Amino acid sequence: MVFAESLICRECSRTYELAPAYFCEWCFGPLDVLYDYEAVAESISREKIAKGPPTLWRYADLLPVEASAATDLGAGFTPLVRADRLAEVLGLGEVWVKNDTLNPTNSFKDRPVTVAVTKAIEFGIKTVACASTGNLANAVAAHAARAGLDSYVFVPHDIERSKIVATAALGRVVAVQGNYDDVNRLCVQLTEEYPWGIVNVNLRPYYAEGSKTLAFETAEQLGWELPDHVVVPVASGALLTKIAKGFDELVQVGLVDSAEVRISGAQAEGCSPVATAFEEGSDDVRPQKPDTIAKSLAIGDPADGYYALREVRRSGGAIAAVTEDEIVEAIHLLARTEGILTEPAGGVTVATLAKMARDGRVTDSERVVIYITGHGLKALEVIATDDPVPIPATVDGFRAEFEKEE
Ligand SMILES: *Cc1c(COP(=O)(O)O)cnc(C)c1O
Ligand SMILES: [Zn+2]
Repeated sequence: MVFAESLICRECSRTYELAPAYFCEWCFGPLDVLYDYEAVAESISREKIAKGPPTLWRYADLLPVEASAATDLGAGFTPLVRADRLAEVLGLGEVWVKNDTLNPTNSFKDRPVTVAVTKAIEFGIKTVACASTGNLANAVAAHAARAGLDSYVFVPHDIERSKIVATAALGRVVAVQGNYDDVNRLCVQLTEEYPWGIVNVNLRPYYAEGSKTLAFETAEQLGWELPDHVVVPVASGALLTKIAKGFDELVQVGLVDSAEVRISGAQAEGCSPVATAFEEGSDDVRPQKPDTIAKSLAIGDPADGYYALREVRRSGGAIAAVTEDEIVEAIHLLARTEGILTEPAGGVTVATLAKMARDGRVTDSERVVIYITGHGLKALEVIATDDPVPIPATVDGFRAEFEKEE
């Protein structure tokens, strides 16, 4: 049973039938999926969700596709772990890490993609594509392979090598001269030329819905309570916007009591258009030329930047940006304190949490959840060290090397 009824313009509320479409023909506003929430409320329950699969498909009532036909590699329902050691270092109280590195292709992008590829098949689409900063490419190629669809994934030529290599094994990688914003512009043009489903262009309304499941899981894993404050990495701003929508929907369908979650955003200084607008108190997200090791967040002209800003302000959160050194330090901090190795996007998130703790924008009385969205093995170059010098395979050899440290 699918409870999605139509697409609705985020600006003027005109509705459209469910089709591969992404902007309003009247005002060019972005389209979102609209559900029959009364029907969802009647169908959904905590008990029903608990009996569902250990994947994001346990929340099928709030997704815009037929779950029984899902292209499923097992995305979602990743661990939410209490991070007391990290909290102690940062001078915070209750901190939780949502470890979304443990998805099928090791980033949160498997969530939107499992939904988008399932919808592409419903629409009779034979070829899927995407404009990606790296992780989306991985996820699209994998889910397309799983579904037996053809795929083209477009990436900036200078992303991390491991992301290109892994994706090339799964599908067809097109490396483009230019940055993400150039790649995205090309993909928008290609939607006019080819009958493709480009997951983050003409399938974007369905694609973005997958990210709401991070909010659903957070609530369920906290025993159906909402956190006080969440920190979310921001690239296009879709993830942050949809986490906000997810918390609102839980209240709307009666799964949690009305509660206020402060939503904060994290960016790298080398690509901080949304953080800059926030600091300036402006509504105008001015495009930047990205230059940062956090390549998966390197979107200089974010499609949902304005809406992310709006959600952050509405909820009483903040958006901060951190330096390259802070990102690398934060990767090491999370690894050492919690045993979780993240790519730079996670470093951005942890470093932003640290900065907000220093500035008093997050406090030790709050229950905080941070989203760690990509695995460290995808970007080893930023933490590369010299190879360890081999010791002789003898006890004396070990002592000679390690006892001198004392
Ligand atoms: C894409 C991505 C994000 C941010 O996603 P948006 O929805 O574009 O804001 C965060 N973290 C990682 C690792 C990503 O790949
Ligand atoms: Zn409109």
